[in-house]
Amino acid sequence: MGQTLTEKILARAAGKARTEPGENIWVNVDVLMTHDVCGPGTIGVFKQHFGPTARVWDRDRVVIIPDHYIFTKDEKARRNIEILREFAREQQLPYFYDVGTERYKGVCHIALPEEGHTRPGEVLLGTDSHTCTAGAFGEFATGVGNTDAGFVLGTGKIWLKVPPTLCFVYEGNPPPWITAKDLILATIGLIGCDGATYKAMEFRGDALAQLGAIAADFAGTAVNERGVRFNPLIEERMTLCNMVIEAGGKNGVIEPDDVTIEFVEERMKAAGTYRPYEPLKSDKDATYEAVYTIRVDELEPVVARPHSPDNTAAVSELAGEPLDRAYIGSCTGGKLFDMIAAARILAGHTVKIDTYVVPATSEILQALDRVRLNGKTLRQVFEDAGCIIGPPSCGACLGGPLDTLGRLNEPLRCISSTNRNFPGRMGHKEAQVFLASPLTVAASAVRGAITDPRELLP
Ligand code: SF4
Repeated sequence: MGQTLTEKILARAAGKARTEPGENIWVNVDVLMTHDVCGPGTIGVFKQHFGPTARVWDRDRVVIIPDHYIFTKDEKARRNIEILREFAREQQLPYFYDVGTERYKGVCHIALPEEGHTRPGEVLLGTDSHTCTAGAFGEFATGVGNTDAGFVLGTGKIWLKVPPTLCFVYEGNPPPWITAKDLILATIGLIGCDGATYKAMEFRGDALAQLGAIAADFAGTAVNERGVRFNPLIEERMTLCNMVIEAGGKNGVIEPDDVTIEFVEERMKAAGTYRPYEPLKSDKDATYEAVYTIRVDELEPVVARPHSPDNTAAVSELAGEPLDRAYIGSCTGGKLFDMIAAARILAGHTVKIDTYVVPATSEILQALDRVRLNGKTLRQVFEDAGCIIGPPSCGACLGGPLDTLGRLNEPLRCISSTNRNFPGRMGHKEAQVFLASPLTVAASAVRGAITDPRELLP
């Protein structure tokens, strides 16, 4: 009997011919990522159990990306970054992307592929629940707690239960107003926030080769000083995998194809992080726990109402709901694709409500000055529309210290391209957050109320 992609990756990482869902196995880890929120705790566990002078199992496989509480005066947040600095120095870690240096990146889940740390067939763990984003590259990627991460730092291994796999097949041609964010919100609305608890979510179907259409004319544009090219399709696949955790998923995964290989090869070579890897695919006779088919050409833009990502509705059901704020940013909705999609709507308009644009990484921030829409840079489009552009980081996606740009410090009604809308997630406990695609967020910013992006798309 065949195996799913997730089962095959885990079997190989465990040195076994095959695995079964529910089986507990020791897995060799290819990359461990941590950041400023969980890094200090992970380092503490590592030192407590392996000794104050212990060395990490493989310094080339540890990646530290401060990104959460970066642009703040909060002393505890700054102390966390100091701990990361001390550890990176002590362990001589080559992949520490420190704040205040040219190496600073921004949101870890976007920085990892930018810097060539995501490879098909590998096992990537991170001390952050949205580590699942990297499943877009055909690898097993999931979040772990500080205790597990501390153990991985010392041994390079983790004890894992193999998840069963749910298969989601997206069929049809996505119309230009349908983004991966709409697809994943529709999927979470379908199965619920616990619909994939401790399960792999494998995404398949014709539509996966056609995502990103609204930014397709920018594909191939150089986005950094290394000449690396923009790939809207890959960015959209990342958005799909990013939000599997909102359905309780252990990991999300997409089989690698030529586009994936081209992307990871280019990134690794440009960043100097190349190492051989072996892509895997699901067997044709793989056993899935369930298969869901979703017609993307029949979808309307989707919005998740407060206070849960599965509280979804078609945008037309919510049209006219008044708003106080719009936010475009995060690992889900702050990639270059999201910037271009939002700019398509905002060009030539003025926003009616406070609108924050926070690029996920410094590369994306720089691309705002490189990429032009109708003769204007994206930065000019946003500034002319009245948006406030923030520095690359997690920003207000998870609230953060009170001085975080864009944080909801009052009980505001906000529409956001981020991934969570639990009470207090973006700051004030009584704030209401609506999750939507960058197109819907931008259209709603222009009208000051929830708006179907089709009304404003040129
Ligand atoms: S951008 Fe938001 S969801 Fe993504 S890693 Fe940062 S805090 Fe988490």
